[in-house]
Amino acid sequence: MKQSKILIVDDQAVIREAYSQILESAGFLVCTADCYDQAITLLDPSIELALIDIQLPGQSGLDILTCIRTEYPDCPVMMMSSHADKENTIEALRQGAVDFLEKPVNPHALVHSIKHWLDFRSLQQENQRLQDFEAVHRRLKQNKAQIRVANDRLNFLLKSTAAVIYASDITDQYTITYISENIKRLCGFAAKAFIDDPAFRMKCVHPDDLERVRYGLEHGLKQGSSSFEYRIQHKDGHYFWVGDEVRLEKNASGKHELLGFITDITKRKEIEERLEKLSYYDTLTELPNRRLFSDRVEQALELAKREKHPLALLFLDIDRFKSINDSMGHACGDQVLKESARRLSTLLRSSDSSARMGGDEFAVLLPESDSNNALRVAKKISEELQKPHLLNEQKIALGVSVGIAIFPEDGDSPARLLMHADTAMYHAKKNSSHIHYYSSNMEEESRNQLRMEQDLATASDENQLKLYFQSQHGISKDSKTSPFPLYYQTKSQLNDSNIIGVESLIRWHHPEFGFISPAAFIPLAEKTGLIRPITHWVLAEAGRQAIAWEKSGIRPGKIAVNVSAVQLMQQGLAEEILSHIRETGAKPEWIEIEVTETAAMRDPKLAISIMRQLVESGISIAIDDFGTGYSSLAYLKRLPAEWLKIDLTFIRGLPDDTEDAAIVCSTIAMAHALGMRTIAEGVETEAQLQFLKNEGCDAVQGYLFSKPMPADEATEYITRNIQSR
Ligand code: C2E
Ligand code: MG
Ligand code: MG
Repeated sequence: MKQSKILIVDDQAVIREAYSQILESAGFLVCTADCYDQAITLLDPSIELALIDIQLPGQSGLDILTCIRTEYPDCPVMMMSSHADKENTIEALRQGAVDFLEKPVNPHALVHSIKHWLDFRSLQQENQRLQDFEAVHRRLKQNKAQIRVANDRLNFLLKSTAAVIYASDITDQYTITYISENIKRLCGFAAKAFIDDPAFRMKCVHPDDLERVRYGLEHGLKQGSSSFEYRIQHKDGHYFWVGDEVRLEKNASGKHELLGFITDITKRKEIEERLEKLSYYDTLTELPNRRLFSDRVEQALELAKREKHPLALLFLDIDRFKSINDSMGHACGDQVLKESARRLSTLLRSSDSSARMGGDEFAVLLPESDSNNALRVAKKISEELQKPHLLNEQKIALGVSVGIAIFPEDGDSPARLLMHADTAMYHAKKNSSHIHYYSSNMEEESRNQLRMEQDLATASDENQLKLYFQSQHGISKDSKTSPFPLYYQTKSQLNDSNIIGVESLIRWHHPEFGFISPAAFIPLAEKTGLIRPITHWVLAEAGRQAIAWEKSGIRPGKIAVNVSAVQLMQQGLAEEILSHIRETGAKPEWIEIEVTETAAMRDPKLAISIMRQLVESGISIAIDDFGTGYSSLAYLKRLPAEWLKIDLTFIRGLPDDTEDAAIVCSTIAMAHALGMRTIAEGVETEAQLQFLKNEGCDAVQGYLFSKPMPADEATEYITRNIQSR
């Protein structure tokens, strides 16, 4: 049994020894001191009780008591004194001494008292321990409550989040040891299904993604973490995408496990898919776009090279698409594109690919196809796409131009093949041949085209441009039947000549290529923006000629000037035309502006306002190439035009072609109903003239009377005609 250590402090050696003996024989350990200083050096936590004489030499026993109370408050102190020292005794008890013994002390009472106080002390200590324990217990209980709160929160999180948390062991099977309950919400199966059957998790994974899942888990195991995506099957059978992030962790029992976090990423995948569609597919027609098509051509080309078989590329462009867009609106244009794409897709085999390359251009890839097969497919496509479209309740048929390039002869890279098919298409369009194979001399033509573009810029400075004039003739049978008596009056004022005007037509004499038709270079000028200075030049020349004729007393009527379609989209065009005419000194009344039907219908409101401004200043307006566009009658009747020029393509078949004849007759009737006069272009034969006369057409222009002539020839022609009358 542990012995309790007692400190005895007394200045009298006899007493110290006597008490020591008594206490030692009672089973205590004893240490003794004879004064304050010695007692203080002996003090330490091992002393369980002190027995101190109050009267000591120097510092008293009370001082030792004070010291013990502050340093070792648990150590009980018993004081001894003679009966006479009442005051000190009281003071000692006040200061916390537990007992007081009067000298001489009865040995039995001494042992008894010491035992009592030692018991008391140990009880007190036990009590303290209990109190401490209780405090710890209370804290533990508090902690438990906190843990419960934390747990509840975690559970709440697990329930409310769509994410599923799981733990799996790191065996080959990656058996799931825990999975949060919300797995049921994710895939319809309860957590139990995963815990009960170690293979269940892999059974849910899409067969194509199994490898990816295994690799992801292995990677997590080796690298400490990994994330991967795969499809899992819902209880109802459909597959959906999840993302899985795993981390290697040690669990509470020190074992390694994979902790995983699964989220439903179907929405994100859908967005990714849509984005991919946007970057690889054309949204309007849903066909692959140029980018995807180029990839496909590249792949097909690699295969063709390896297996040594040919391959064909077709490049398609819808003819006159622009005029549909311009005259009937973009919604109709879109309809044509969608329908064309649909027809194209239904024609092709699954191994072929088609794409929208932009605008009204499409491309077709025919793997393993030689030139004969390519031509067969091109013909089929051309036939199908030329079938009429129903637009705004009108049946409208559009042509299509197809260019063909073949691997290996026309190129061995996707870019070259596409470029060559495009060049071939361009030639098909230019030559109205619908389908054209690529040939290497087309390159030269394209180079010439480029050269022309460059040379056109300096053509007017180098005097290569000339203005020709072609006469226009009134053809009324007699003034009584004419709906425009005033007109014939005016004509009679023109020296009785039936020349009612001249059209100015530009010519380009290229130093190397010779004569270039305006039909070839005006589109180039429109493309490069040179059309503006060219129109300026034409107006200046026409104005100068008008003044020259005026001065010589020759009056051929109005001089018509053609204004290009792109210019009619330009704000401020009327002011520009007027200022150019005034610069020359000519009068606006001498000038007529010809605008094509398609140009006028592109932005009818703007066209009408430009025309009105011109008409108000005295310039008259003629609608050129009428019948080739798609006029809206509503706008047509608002156009302040004086003349409708019936396009020469309808005149060519007269008088025998019944369709042309019907068109011409109804155009004349309609124009008259709208208060406009008609002039037929391209009249080459007497029969045509006779037909037009009979139908009441007001005027004609064509080779039957004159070809476009240089100014001096035109002057001579007009003078002769006037004189011959
Ligand atoms: P357009 O304004 O319709 O001009 C009539 C075209 O028909 C002219 O062709 C003319 O030479 C041709 N032609 C006239 N009578 C006959 C005929 O009896 N038979 C045949 N087969 N053709 C006939 P050209 O001069 O080649 O001009 C073609 C087009 O180029 C013009 O068509 C016009 O749109 C445009 N153009 C001509 N000069 C200019 C110009 O100064 N400015 C602009 N912007 N365009 C012009
Ligand atoms: Mg014209
Ligand atoms: Mg014309």
